[in-house]
Amino acid sequence: MDPLGQSYEHKAGTIIQNLKKRQIAGVYVPSADQAREYILSGIPDGATVSWGGSMTVDALGVKQELAARNLTCLDRALAADDQEVQAIYRQAFSADFYLTGSNAITIDGKLVNVDATGNRVAALIFGPKKVFVCVGMNKVVSNEQEAISRVRDQAAPPNVNRLGMKTPCATTGVCGHCHSVDCICCQTVITRHSRQKGRIEVILIGEALGY
Ligand code: SF4
Repeated sequence: MDPLGQSYEHKAGTIIQNLKKRQIAGVYVPSADQAREYILSGIPDGATVSWGGSMTVDALGVKQELAARNLTCLDRALAADDQEVQAIYRQAFSADFYLTGSNAITIDGKLVNVDATGNRVAALIFGPKKVFVCVGMNKVVSNEQEAISRVRDQAAPPNVNRLGMKTPCATTGVCGHCHSVDCICCQTVITRHSRQKGRIEVILIGEALGY
């Protein structure tokens, strides 16, 4: 194994131990392909599945595979209009499985997410019976403060560019602490513990994925 892969595996082991005390399950896989297979094998036919917007989940190629199976996929990308999108957001709370990324994860096992609409963090907190959180090792940070800086100064600028939003960071590349109409930093959620043991499962992936 290459030295970077080795260090990812060691660091993931530390994080997984720290997740355990938070009643959050954790697993490490070296590649996006293995993460996809892990998720696919964990979702039985007949289940209802939904997901939040996530470059990491997109990169796994898992959504296409799920759509081809005998599952009910609640996919807002297929909605005819905004009314249907809003309905899917709400239906997702009743899903058996939910897939999401995380903007950051601290070494001591806290998930840090900053969201615009809030549907993604809402489903992480409550609703779906099981949540798979897909996290590239590039999202690992030392503490909450570093997590917030990472989201504002590293993740948000490319995200607003991708979404065509007009915010200060869209042109400066760093956070301007805005209250713009297009601001994507509306909800900051720190998940420090899962009341239901194992409901949240973090899949740490030994690749750089997402922003
Ligand atoms: S608060 Fe505004 S300027 Fe700062 S990262 Fe978020 S969207 Fe960009």
